Amino acid sequence: MNFPPNRTSALARLEAFVPLAAKYAAHRNFDLGAGKHNGVSRLSPYIRTRLITEEEATRAVLAKHNSRAAEKFLQEIAWRTYWKGWLEMRPEAWSHYLATLAEQEKPAGYAKAIAGETGIECFDHWVHELLGTGYLHNHARMWFASIWIFTLKLPWQLGADFFLCHLLDGDPAANTLSWRWVAGLHTPGKHYLARAENIEKFTLGRFDPAGQLDEKAHPIPLDQTFTRQPLHLPSNPKPKGRTGHLMFPEDLAPPPEDLGEIHATAAYLPAAHQASSLVVEFLEGAISSTLAERDGTLFGEPFHSSLNDWIRAEKLDAIVISRPTVGFTKDFLTDQKLPPITHTFIRTWDHLLWPHATAGFFKLKAALPKIHASIAPNRVDDLFPDF
Ligand SMILES: Cc1cc2nc3c(=O)[nH]c(=O)nc-3n(C[C@H](O)[C@H](O)[C@H](O)COP(=O)(O)OP(=O)(O)OC[C@H]3O[C@@H](n4cnc5c(N)ncnc54)[C@H](O)[C@@H]3O)c2cc1C
Repeated sequence: MNFPPNRTSALARLEAFVPLAAKYAAHRNFDLGAGKHNGVSRLSPYIRTRLITEEEATRAVLAKHNSRAAEKFLQEIAWRTYWKGWLEMRPEAWSHYLATLAEQEKPAGYAKAIAGETGIECFDHWVHELLGTGYLHNHARMWFASIWIFTLKLPWQLGADFFLCHLLDGDPAANTLSWRWVAGLHTPGKHYLARAENIEKFTLGRFDPAGQLDEKAHPIPLDQTFTRQPLHLPSNPKPKGRTGHLMFPEDLAPPPEDLGEIHATAAYLPAAHQASSLVVEFLEGAISSTLAERDGTLFGEPFHSSLNDWIRAEKLDAIVISRPTVGFTKDFLTDQKLPPITHTFIRTWDHLLWPHATAGFFKLKAALPKIHASIAPNRVDDLFPDF
């Protein structure tokens, strides 16, 4: 398995990557093929489940490099949080995606595209790589989405759905908004056009789709704008009495220490939206390895009776859950009505970064040096040489 679903493997991958973080900017654009993605970290399935957190990865890099040397990598980690914060403030972008996805007819060309039979060699290769491994390099994702939208003329929502079903790191915010960005819907009028020359260069000649791509297509016309809603970031609760930590697959990290003692741990995996068997296997493995470490309970179906049984068996006075972010788990929980003893907590990382995701990434990028200084004060000299 390319991504063994446990924290030990996640930490090993982080440790192996940290020395390379300073070379990331030079190497990150090259897609050398499955098994050779060594210029990037391949941490995304672990970060998506928070088998390791964004803060942990950032701290590990800052422990070895000054923030300038590893700037590009640190910024990419923040991109994920940017997309999540942006969507927290515009949840309609998610519901609009789901609604327009449900309306899509499967056009001619769709079946061949998802079978990797378009005749565009690089695209067909990436389809098979995705189906076989659950992972694609970032540059391949950009080229893939661009070819899907502008050369194959397929609806972006169907492509985003295909990714979400098959990516081990599939994330409603990063995925939906990246597809919108490629289409020219995130920054209106600015789209990403895959060029044969660029693919040839950054695959070191493995592919050369010269003459096969539409390199002159226009952006997709803007479908809807989304009003920004205020971001509520209350302080974390102080639960009293016996407290249980209930986890969902997007956040398997232990709760912050300021919540106090945790007496019991449990997890539930909501039926994922047509997730591939690789994705389900990864998520089930991530949950069971985490529960094994913390002597926790895996909920069966139905959710509500498992929850009530757990509360009774563990004699719980309070339950804490990591704030569900906009996406499938939040949709699931909105329908579930959790008991009133449930408290939601927000991780410091999200508290620090989300408020800067009001507009473009630039605002968050500008805030990063101070944020990094606050979590890794030993690096303050590198960040503010005049201190
Ligand atoms: C069309 C499209 C769809 C995408 N869908 C997803 C998705 O569902 N889930 C997802 O996590 N990322 C998504 N990305 C972003 C990016 O491609 C992946 O995060 C990255 O390729 C993961 O590989 P890595 O861990 O080796 O990344 P590295 O380059 O090593 O980066 C380290 C970490 O930073 C984060 N990161 C890096 N680049 C980005 C980015 N552009 N946007 C957001 N976070 C980033 C990831 O958590 C990643 O693990 C998508 C990008 C595109 C263009």
